[in-house]
Amino acid sequence: MAREISGTTRIAAVLGNPLDHTLSPAMHNAAYRALDLDWVYIPIATPDEASVARVAGLARAVPFVGFNVTMPFKQMVFELCDEVALTARMAGAVNTVHVVGERLVGYNTDARGVIEALESEADFAMTGQQVVLLGAGGAAGAALVAAIIGKAARITVVNRTIERAEELIERVEPHLRDAEVRALTWDDAEPAVRSAALVVNCTPIGMQPDDPSPVPGEWFGTGQVVMDMVYRPQPTRLIAEARHAGATAFDGLAMLVAQGATAIDIWEESAQARAPRAVMREAAERQLAARGEVGEGS
Ligand code: NAP
Repeated sequence: MAREISGTTRIAAVLGNPLDHTLSPAMHNAAYRALDLDWVYIPIATPDEASVARVAGLARAVPFVGFNVTMPFKQMVFELCDEVALTARMAGAVNTVHVVGERLVGYNTDARGVIEALESEADFAMTGQQVVLLGAGGAAGAALVAAIIGKAARITVVNRTIERAEELIERVEPHLRDAEVRALTWDDAEPAVRSAALVVNCTPIGMQPDDPSPVPGEWFGTGQVVMDMVYRPQPTRLIAEARHAGATAFDGLAMLVAQGATAIDIWEESAQARAPRAVMREAAERQLAARGEVGEGS
């Protein structure tokens, strides 16, 4: 039974543009019901940076629990926070803001999302492994942080704009410990992809139904793990081709669920992973099915 919205209900939200396809309200509200939290999660479409700043200002003053930030504001919201967690500073992006009194504390739960998804979908840990990240934007930043936390041995960041990959690597350099990290262009990526234990697509290639796979499927083989951060349409071309080549491949839905669940755990100030991942996943899958975005083989 859903809780009624009342005078004591606290607000959580997602800010972004566009938000037409967001699965977060369905996932979050399902979790709040399961946890009996007197919270409601709403989408707030913010057309520009000024409107994000206005909502963030409002969140300091009214009973907000926190808010998520999605494309294209994950970088700019960083500047609006009073404090930013180390993983978000390393990734260069904030996707979750906790409202603590009048203060805004920024986090990046995408990195945790990557680690949880690899565990739950492929029973894969990055320790000592070779990892290739396709892309060098905010999502790749989170995956790079996940690979560093996960103690990957060698991390290759492949990007169209090589300078952006180099900037990303420069930002995490002080935190690398023993990991070896390098930047490559797509033209030089084949040997790295072929020899990687894990390849993560952190580009939006695959979001459009006619998109090709970001790398040719024949570069993959048995024993490799391929994660596509894109989760619709299901399955993406990358997932279908990697599976055909014998790799263990899965899309970004598990990551989406885990990053949302981690946000709830932060807002609840819970030391444990309390947010019900299975309930959230079911809610997200229901939404995708209702929109006809789940295809054969997903
Ligand atoms: P972003 O900051 O805009 O970065 C996009 C990256 O993709 C850049 O490195 C860009 O290269 C590259 N790229 C874009 N189009 C390309 C093309 N046609 N060919 C080659 N490279 C291309 O975006 P983001 O925030 O990192 O998000 C990337 C994707 O991850 C999105 O689809 C997003 O929905 C998804 N994502 C999923 C989750 C999840 O929970 N599953 C979480 C976060 C993000 P340049 O630098 O050369 O432009």
